[in-house]
Amino acid sequence: KQPSCSQLSTTTCPYCGVGCGVDVTSELQGNTGQLLSVKGTADHPANFGRLCVKGSKLAETNSTQGRLLAPLVNGETVQWSEAIATIADKFSDVIKQHGPDAVAFYVSGQLLTEDYYVANKLMKGYIGSANIDTNSRLCMSSAVAAYKRAFGADTVPCCYEDLEQTELLVLVGSNAAWTHPVLFQRIERAKKINPNMRLVFIDPRRTASCEAGDLHLPLKPGSDVALFNGLLHYLAKNDVVEQEYIHAFTQGFTDTLGACEPWTLDAVAQHCDLSVTQVEQFYTMFASSDSALSFYSMGVNQSTSGVDKANAIINCHLATGKMGRQGCGPFSITGQPNAMGGREVGGLANMLACHMDIDNSEHRSIVQDYWQSPRIATQPGLKAVDLFDAIEQGSVKAVWIMATNPMVSMPNRHKIKAALEKCEMVVVSDCVANNDTVNMADVVLPATGWSEKNGTVTNSERRISRQRGFLPPPGQTRHDWQIICDVAKAMGFSAGFNFSTASEIFAEYCGLTAEKNNGNRDLDLSGLCGLTQGQYDNLMPIQWPVNQANPQGVKRMFSDGRYFTPSKKAQFIALEVRTPEQLTSSDFPFVLNSGRVRDQWHTMTRTGTSADLTRHIPYATLSMHSRDAAQLAVKSGDLLALSSTVSPSDSQVILPVQIDDGQRLGEFFAPIHWSEQNASSANISHLYTDANDRISGQPELKHAAISVTKV
Ligand code: SF4
Repeated sequence: KQPSCSQLSTTTCPYCGVGCGVDVTSELQGNTGQLLSVKGTADHPANFGRLCVKGSKLAETNSTQGRLLAPLVNGETVQWSEAIATIADKFSDVIKQHGPDAVAFYVSGQLLTEDYYVANKLMKGYIGSANIDTNSRLCMSSAVAAYKRAFGADTVPCCYEDLEQTELLVLVGSNAAWTHPVLFQRIERAKKINPNMRLVFIDPRRTASCEAGDLHLPLKPGSDVALFNGLLHYLAKNDVVEQEYIHAFTQGFTDTLGACEPWTLDAVAQHCDLSVTQVEQFYTMFASSDSALSFYSMGVNQSTSGVDKANAIINCHLATGKMGRQGCGPFSITGQPNAMGGREVGGLANMLACHMDIDNSEHRSIVQDYWQSPRIATQPGLKAVDLFDAIEQGSVKAVWIMATNPMVSMPNRHKIKAALEKCEMVVVSDCVANNDTVNMADVVLPATGWSEKNGTVTNSERRISRQRGFLPPPGQTRHDWQIICDVAKAMGFSAGFNFSTASEIFAEYCGLTAEKNNGNRDLDLSGLCGLTQGQYDNLMPIQWPVNQANPQGVKRMFSDGRYFTPSKKAQFIALEVRTPEQLTSSDFPFVLNSGRVRDQWHTMTRTGTSADLTRHIPYATLSMHSRDAAQLAVKSGDLLALSSTVSPSDSQVILPVQIDDGQRLGEFFAPIHWSEQNASSANISHLYTDANDRISGQPELKHAAISVTKV
């Protein structure tokens, strides 16, 4: 028997975008190991020792049971060399016959930045297509597009400390108590220390978060643009806009204010289905606060007007100069642990690496020259919904899905299934052996998981943290970046993919951020160029940009009022109010909202294995107001079958009723997590259409029109 040894490591939680530091104790014995215990890292600036219940149960969900441990081709176990050759041959063949846009990658905010970097490099620089999109499209692409419209770059201006230093915190479309629990704990503590701090919740549902607030606005779903247009109108009318800031640092105020003219208090109240008193209370709070922070998440982003909603919020911050200073700013909070890192290295189909733009020829040259790649994508690729459409229509013939489960998370599951069935080759790399998407694959590749992976992630406040592997890779698993490089080399692209460690990839990435960057681009990691392996291993959490002027990183952006637009001024965006696309009708009279529950993560492939985590909410339910239940003649626990314009007749969604008077009348809520694997009738992705934001492509996952019948 080999002797065992225990070790201590510090890494980052693999779940949400808060990005908490985690200290782990593990035991190694020969080539195997076990995670023994976890606790929050005391000095990590995201969590200061705290963990939420998901993070604190990491030891329970880190078993190798259910792990994918060997490559499979058509269901048969094969050697790595055969799996890699099968993929490389098919991708090369499709490209030769149909061109580079006939292949695609669909990647994930669960990947580390180094994985993302090489995936993007292979697709955009070597294959020559931009058909690489990510499940982060479903998470925060509307926030990205809004920042780019207003600031000229995808720059998150704020930091977590601002949550504790603001006079007024406005949470829009966020149930942070359940979705970003450690941040919510920080907010609650700040409120306790400073009872004068005011909390406003803007959410159609009265959620667990709202209990902590001073004001809850249960607005009609999708009416946020009207609410914030009205706020801008109110601020101007009451002469509390900052004319000096507007004049010095912004453009487009007059036109934008003109578009807000119709949005009087009465008009807003009527449109948002609120009382005038409620609206005025919120507006007065915003107007009278010297500092205000808007914290927004999926309720803003997952909408056909998600980009406009975010810009409506940003407009109000620009108009009052509540930007770039303590406790101020429009703060988009990401869902996944590395949605930010992914967008930094070009994981979105419409961006190049390092926040450079595909449609900018100078940026294309910078990236191609730096990579010395044979080509560079010249036009944006297909965003998630369009990508699966193209697979279904046959124009994309081979797809590689990495670390994500679109059969459960994408809207319109029926179409996703039809697309994957039709696709000539579906490759899935994942760490779990069995999920709804793995089961659709021709080639399945075993990837390392959280406890084995080395690399970096970026959290919602631009903070880069190290994820450190502390257990040996089980079975034949390989790191995602290794698998991607192996396929690239098998396709004949050896020169660009000869990496032997994650730190070499990080070094190349940092170098590209610095390339011809004279302060005109926000993402600058020149201060991290040339790290030794030891320095990379010991890298402490740091907020980008990190450069000569800011060797310790930057807490807040835009403190100097200088933006990344060509004029260096922030842009107001004049906005029209639009309704959600999936409107109710006599056939589909109810609205379905969706989201996470407190103790589960995404499609439950990890958190679903913990008995403790499952105890909180053991099965999916359909929440509705008691008056709706009375009208439908149902009580708590009765089963209802749900249908929409796209739900197939042979796969019914059936959920038990849960009475919740925090729901608005006629509006129901169901969780996103359950899949064919763990509850075949509870996968609500059957109900959502392809409706998505016209700018960001982010699907409208908060507003389906459904009907219900008693089972
Ligand atoms: Fe992990 Fe998010 Fe919980 Fe922190 S708040 S422990 S990052 S799930």
